[in-house]
Amino acid sequence: MAVSVVLFTADLRLHDHPPLRAALNGSRQVVPLFVRDPGVAAAGFAVPNRLAFLADCLRDLDAGLRTRGGRLVVRSGDVVEAVCAVAAEAGADEVRMAADVSGYAQLRERRLRRALEADGRRLHVHDAVTAAVAPGVVTPAASDHFAVFTPYFRHWSGQRLRGVLDAPPSVPVPPGIGSEELPSRSALPGISPGLAEGGEAAGRKRLAAWLRSGVAAYAERHDDLAGDATSRLSPHLHFGTLSAVELVHRARRAGGPGAEAFVRQIAWRDFHRQVLAARPDAARADYRTRHDRWRSERAARDDIEAWREGRTGYPVIDAAMRQLRHEGWMHNRARLLTASFLTKTLYVDWRVGARHFLELLVDGDLANNQLNWQWVAGTGTDTRPNRVLNPVAQARRHDADGAYVRRWVPELADVAGAAVHEPWKPRGARGTPPVGTYPDPIVDLADGLARFARARGRG
Ligand code: FAD
Repeated sequence: MAVSVVLFTADLRLHDHPPLRAALNGSRQVVPLFVRDPGVAAAGFAVPNRLAFLADCLRDLDAGLRTRGGRLVVRSGDVVEAVCAVAAEAGADEVRMAADVSGYAQLRERRLRRALEADGRRLHVHDAVTAAVAPGVVTPAASDHFAVFTPYFRHWSGQRLRGVLDAPPSVPVPPGIGSEELPSRSALPGISPGLAEGGEAAGRKRLAAWLRSGVAAYAERHDDLAGDATSRLSPHLHFGTLSAVELVHRARRAGGPGAEAFVRQIAWRDFHRQVLAARPDAARADYRTRHDRWRSERAARDDIEAWREGRTGYPVIDAAMRQLRHEGWMHNRARLLTASFLTKTLYVDWRVGARHFLELLVDGDLANNQLNWQWVAGTGTDTRPNRVLNPVAQARRHDADGAYVRRWVPELADVAGAAVHEPWKPRGARGTPPVGTYPDPIVDLADGLARFARARGRG
C-alpha cells in the first residue's frame, strides 16, 4: 500500500501507538493528521486550559515526528471533510485512528467510515489505544457493560494486555500536503497560572519520576491532600500523551501495594469509559435516576457562586475550588469533597458542578468527569447513593495538620494546625475566631443534610 493517513485525536504520542505502527508496517508513507474540529468547540470543550495543554501536545508531537523525518499536518474544519480531503490529496488507501467512547466520537467514526468508503478508502479503528482494556472486551452475562466497579475490576485484572510498542524510528511523510500553523499556548488568554506543561516528552518525564519515587507510597498517601502524592498523570491520559496500556505494564513491573493501587485507578478510568460507550446519554442524563428535584439554579445562585469562587466558609472546600482555578487541576479527594458538598449539602444538580469542572480542568474528560460527578451525586454507579462526605470530618482526616487549606486560603494562613478547618470556633485562651475576611459558612451542615434526606425520601 502506498499511503496511509493516521488521524490523531486523544492519542497524541509516538510511543505505543498501534494505528501509527500499523500504518508504517503496511504503507510506504504516512500522513500524521490532527484536525481542529469546530464541533468540539461548539460542544463547549475548547476551554483555555485544555487548549493550552493541547497546543503543547501538538508542538511536541510535531517535534517528535520531525526528528523522525516527518511532520504533523494540522487542518481546521469538519473532521470528516478534512480527513477525506487530506486522504484524497495524499492518494491514501486507508485511514487509521483510535476508538473513543463519547457519543460524539462514536458518531464521528460512523460518519468517517461512510464518507471514506464512498471514496473507495477504508477506515481502521484500533482498540486499546486510549484505554488499557477497551469497552466491550469484558462484559457481564446479561448486559453490554458493567454497572458496578468491583466485578468489573475482577474481570479487567484477568485480561492479558497487548504488548507495548516502541516509538517508530522514522516516519516518512509525503511532500506537498499543506498544514496550518501549530497553535501556541502563549497566544491563549484565560489560562490558569499554575497549569501543567503538555506534550509526550513532559508526560514521559513525569511518568519516569512517578515510577522512580512516587508510586511506591501511593497506597498509603494517595488521599493526603497536602502531600500531593498522586501521579498527576491525568491530563496525559486524557490527551493520550501517555498510553494506559504502557502505564499498567510499567506499574506492574514496579510492583508492590502502591503500584497495585495505582493500576486499580487506571481500571476506574476504563470502567467509566465502558459505561459511557454503552450509555453515551450518561454525559447529560442520570445513569440511575433517584428522582431528584434539585434546587433551581436561580434559587441556589448565590450558593453556586460561592462554591465556584471558593468562599463557602468551609475551608477545605474553598481550598479545593481555588486550587482548581489556579492549576486547572484538583486532587481526587478534593474533587470528591467539593462534588459531595455541591450535590448533597447544597442539593444542586450535578450537571452544574460538572460543567464548572469542565470549564477549568486540564484533564476534563467526558467519561471521567460526568460519571464521577454522577457517582458522587448518587445518580451513577455508586452502590451507596446516599452517602454524604462531611467536609470538616474529611478535612481533619485527609488534611490533619491543615497545610492544604493554608496553602490555598491565605486568609487562614495564620491559623495553626487542624483548627483551620473550623475557623468559626473560638480558639485558645483568647477565645476569638481569628479571621477577618474569611466568610462565615453559607450553610449549616445539619440543615443541608436534612434537606438532602427529605429530598431522597429518607427524612
Ligand atoms: P492518580 O491518583 O495518580 O490516578 C492515576 C490515574 O487513574 C488518573 O490519572 C486517572 O486517569 C485515573 N483515575 C484516578 N482516579 C479515578 C477515578 N475516580 N475515576 C476514573 N479514573 C481515575 N479524572 C479525569 O481524568 N478527568 C476528569 O474530568 C475527572 N473529573 C472528576 C470529577 C469528580 C467529581 C471526581 C470525584 C473525580 C474526577 N476525576 C476525573 C477522577 C480523579 O479525580 C482524577 O483522575 C485524578 O484526581 C487525577 O489525578 P492523578 O492523575 O494524580 O490521579
